[in-house]
Amino acid sequence: MRVSIKTLGCKVNQAESDLLLAAFKKAGFTIVDFDEVADYYIVNSCAVTEEAERKTRQYVRRAIRRNPQGLVILVGCYAKLWKDCRYASLGERVIVLPTVREKERAIGRLFAEQLGVPLPPPFFPYPSRSRAWVKVQEGCDHFCSFCLVPYLREGVQSREFEDILREIHHLTEQGVREIVLCGTNLGYFGRDTGEGTLIDLLEFLVARTEGVRFRLSSLEPYLLSKEFAIRYFALGTRVCPHLHLPLQSGSDRILRRMRRGYSAKMYAELVAMVRSLYPQVAVTTDVIVGFPGETAEDFEATVQFCQNIGFSRMHVFAFSPRPGTPASEWEKSEGIPKPEKQRRVRQLLTVGKALSEEYHKSFVGKKLYVLVEFVEENIGIGYSENYIPVHVEGTNQDNVRKIVPVLVERAWPTHVEGRLALQ
Ligand code: SF4
Repeated sequence: MRVSIKTLGCKVNQAESDLLLAAFKKAGFTIVDFDEVADYYIVNSCAVTEEAERKTRQYVRRAIRRNPQGLVILVGCYAKLWKDCRYASLGERVIVLPTVREKERAIGRLFAEQLGVPLPPPFFPYPSRSRAWVKVQEGCDHFCSFCLVPYLREGVQSREFEDILREIHHLTEQGVREIVLCGTNLGYFGRDTGEGTLIDLLEFLVARTEGVRFRLSSLEPYLLSKEFAIRYFALGTRVCPHLHLPLQSGSDRILRRMRRGYSAKMYAELVAMVRSLYPQVAVTTDVIVGFPGETAEDFEATVQFCQNIGFSRMHVFAFSPRPGTPASEWEKSEGIPKPEKQRRVRQLLTVGKALSEEYHKSFVGKKLYVLVEFVEENIGIGYSENYIPVHVEGTNQDNVRKIVPVLVERAWPTHVEGRLALQ
């Protein structure tokens, strides 16, 4: 039997799809590309932007066309919306699983109970990668005014320490050398269980594993404390000197309307605190531009703020209204015209590119530790501990899945280049 999975959206979805792929492989399924004929198409959907919703619908339709006898299973955030309000019926060939929590287990049940094809638990991945995402938590109830997630994923649910450790041991046995811990709102990890917080978890994982480094996918600024940062950097090279702190806006007026829970000044102080502990830490971020009512001054404040902080990488998104959120109501009367949103995106991306180049240049002549993910024509490609894409000359297949020291020789806005160095 043939199965294909299309994953949209966040790292949590990616981690869940990895688990699913592993389960299908173990059960003897052939994994095929989404454009090929499959018996089962799984669309692991996203509802964070209008674009993600559009793509989800597109993939469902494409799968229906690809194999008139196939079955399409829609899971993820958009599946819940789909079920709740809109495209309730697409005929018998589409099964909509509105579960947002533990979707891999829900799919396991669906295959075992309704389709008569048991999938083997536990759904541990068999990765082909040297880096793997591990979902440790689901759910967020922060209710930022633009975000649909709190309406879709019910409450906060964290996994147990031992359960996470088991998965990581399994991954490291398969050759994974970097684990990216992810969650809907990672900083909320442990809030529901009382077993320990995110930093307790990291200390536990570092103590109980070896030969693998840890990275955090994202941390909301209002959840980053000084105690966390001190304990984090005390873990040394086992954790990556890289923090992704979503800023969203550099204007206090917009931040308040977004209900982010911090001001620009508080954010700047956090970054300064982190840098006082580890000066060359990579601080990356997400920014939304064209939020309803964002004036030219608000946008300019964001541009200035980003320049002052000196992010090493920025992801810039044009605001897109999510139905049912307060910001989608404001969009009706205070929306920024699309061409202006796009112009602001382009302007900020240009700023981001220059900042990345500046950050990359600061490592010329220095050593970085790169996890080589693949090699092409003797050039190893991978990420450094501080999340710089690195091209490493003089490598071969033996370097794949190893963390190697690299002397940086040249820097570009997108990556740096260098050669293997001595330890
Ligand atoms: S912190 Fe805000 S943006 Fe992030 S998931 Fe929660 S509500 Fe959404």
